[in-house]
Amino acid sequence: MSTGIRAAEDTLTRIAEFVNTRRADGDDIGTPEQLTIWLHAHALLPRDTAVTDRDRDRAEWVREGLRALLAANNAEPVASPRPDGLDPAARTRLAALTAQLPLTLDVTVTPPRLTPRPDHPVDRALATLLADVATAVAAGTWPRLKTCREPSCRWAFYDHSRNHGRTWCSMNVCGNRVKVRAAQRRSTGR
Ligand SMILES: [Zn+2]
Repeated sequence: MSTGIRAAEDTLTRIAEFVNTRRADGDDIGTPEQLTIWLHAHALLPRDTAVTDRDRDRAEWVREGLRALLAANNAEPVASPRPDGLDPAARTRLAALTAQLPLTLDVTVTPPRLTPRPDHPVDRALATLLADVATAVAAGTWPRLKTCREPSCRWAFYDHSRNHGRTWCSMNVCGNRVKVRAAQRRSTGR
């Protein structure tokens, strides 16, 4: 595997981990303090940076916008009685925010790569995550990063399958849940 593809997979992992900070039972970037911890753990923020509520909100907008992008990489979601985990406005909101998270082409490195331009450390971290998207698109790995087809789940995963056909975060959880619902519909005639 070339180092370029390796790097692209690493950046995909980081995007998936960021999207999956929203868990079924909590939010790992729910407060500025939690966001600080997450960004430090991923080497995206200098020490002693003060993170504000505004930063946290922007991080959530980036996260939910990324989730919407990843959902578009998967098949249409299945019908579910549970609430949809996708905010319909997320992609538009991220589109507006990207204007404040600019990237520039760094030609001092080989190969050239997109790097964040913002001075503000948290904006810089968020722009880095957007640069990760561009890296994955360029490497051709982007379409394999998806969110689960179960609307209430929307967990991000990397599709390692040979035919790129994986649609569930986990066949044991969401895949089975859908099968059980289908069986119930058949037995009740609904
Ligand atoms: Zn799922």
